[in-house]
Amino acid sequence: MTGENAQPKASHYIGGQYVEDTDGKVFESLYPATGQPVARVHSATDAIVEKALASARDAQSAWAETPGFERGRILLKAAEILRKRNDEIARVETLDTGKAIQETLYVDAVSAADNMEYFGHLAATLTSEHIPLNPTSFAYTLREPLGVVAGIGAWNYPIQVASWKAAPSLALGNALVFKPSEMTPLTALILAEVMTEAGLPDGLFNVVQGMGDVGAQLVSSPIVDKVTLTGSVPTGAKVMASAAESLKHVTLELGGKSPLIIFDDADLENAVSGALMANFYSSGQVCSNGTRVFVQDGIREAFTQRLIERTTAIKLGDPLDPDTQMGPMISKRQAEIVAGYIAKGLTEGATLLTGGERQTVSGCEAGEFITPAIFSALRDDATIVREEIFGPVMCLLEFSAEEDVIARANDTEFGLAAGVFTRDLARAHRVITKLQAGTTWINNFNVTPVGVPFGGHKRSGIGRENAEAAVAYYSQIKSVYVEMGDVDAPY
Ligand code: NDP
Repeated sequence: MTGENAQPKASHYIGGQYVEDTDGKVFESLYPATGQPVARVHSATDAIVEKALASARDAQSAWAETPGFERGRILLKAAEILRKRNDEIARVETLDTGKAIQETLYVDAVSAADNMEYFGHLAATLTSEHIPLNPTSFAYTLREPLGVVAGIGAWNYPIQVASWKAAPSLALGNALVFKPSEMTPLTALILAEVMTEAGLPDGLFNVVQGMGDVGAQLVSSPIVDKVTLTGSVPTGAKVMASAAESLKHVTLELGGKSPLIIFDDADLENAVSGALMANFYSSGQVCSNGTRVFVQDGIREAFTQRLIERTTAIKLGDPLDPDTQMGPMISKRQAEIVAGYIAKGLTEGATLLTGGERQTVSGCEAGEFITPAIFSALRDDATIVREEIFGPVMCLLEFSAEEDVIARANDTEFGLAAGVFTRDLARAHRVITKLQAGTTWINNFNVTPVGVPFGGHKRSGIGRENAEAAVAYYSQIKSVYVEMGDVDAPY
């Protein structure tokens, strides 16, 4: 290991402690800015996966019987520890992902803590229904956990994804085995340490490392009752097909190609801010990004000019430098995918207004820095308008009429997010109700507070994370009919 170091004590976390199995294939976490390894971990062997699943199964029933307010108290303590360790977690998240420290200090562990806090409070307040039937009978419902949850994460928001799955799972009495993306193995382990320190009984939150095959092993395990995945649409389809064999519950948070519609009457600076936040945060590696920016005729010239001014001022650099606004792509492979789309945009005849070039950053020569790109003169059927790129590439599209832009915005297989900028609130609500997306914004973009349900329509996902909506996806209802009179039988 050279330079920065974020080596964990061991690769996996099972039964409340770090566990190693050096028989598993070694892989490295590379600091994307320099390409230097910051940690080495071993992929989980079959024995490790089985140990984690058994540990979860064995711990779950006592946890299910623990009163909600006691479960909640542990999550609240976890939130407190996450906040105390925020800066340290931000640094590891930056080393693992290459995201600018000015983002990770304020978003990643903060979002994890918010989630623990929200579901900690919620666990204490969950009640059930009493259903009066007649003078001699009534019914009530019990909200029960599902059992063992397998969580599988993407690489762009590692601790956030892990905690968005852990907090509702644990609040509702489930146990979890989580597999982070093999590119970002580190902060899920820190979350596991935090949960133990907060008082979570051993075995309820386990982390196993590995690639897709380890994820697939979790999904097909008979011990697992529910699978929750954040990832791409093709992986979501595979996970759902595998889960279907044993009819497991499934939550899928998948990709998108979301529309952002800017009407003539929008506040110019806010609309430009919205478009920037919808495209360039985390170097564009955000699932809900509004990468199809539809701009109405009357504001187009002023919007485009201001957008280019502010885009060209974005400072790329070493992500650990607090002045850096945008880091590199997570990997060489992701950079090649993005560069491939930029080349495709050009060959399909689009105009590149700015960016889209590889930039060398002093001290980080091996990092894959791509300047934020804006394309215009696009057809709706261009490849870069239709496919998720997962990089800093914005597509500007022109429109005149409201009805026309709604149809074009909906003309996609995805439905994760959508946004509208206008001062006319009647129009804003009218348009939003017609957009086919699970998470939408009026006069903002990409803000995801824990109290608001998050998830996709169409091929962008199934189920919801965050808010009370998540309760339905991490628990099941038992109806109890109670008879106090005689049983009425015709025999
Ligand atoms: P992938 O779909 O490639 O991977 C997601 C996770 O699934 C990884 O941990 C991966 O392992 C694992 N995996 C891969 N194959 C299988 C399988 N057959 N069975 C079980 N698990 C498997 O996504 P990325 O990590 O590349 O993340 C980017 C994608 O995630 C984008 O499409 C993005 O839009 C989406 N995303 C969605 C979000 C949302 O909330 N809707 C948020 C963030 C990202 P490994 O990669 O380690 O081999």
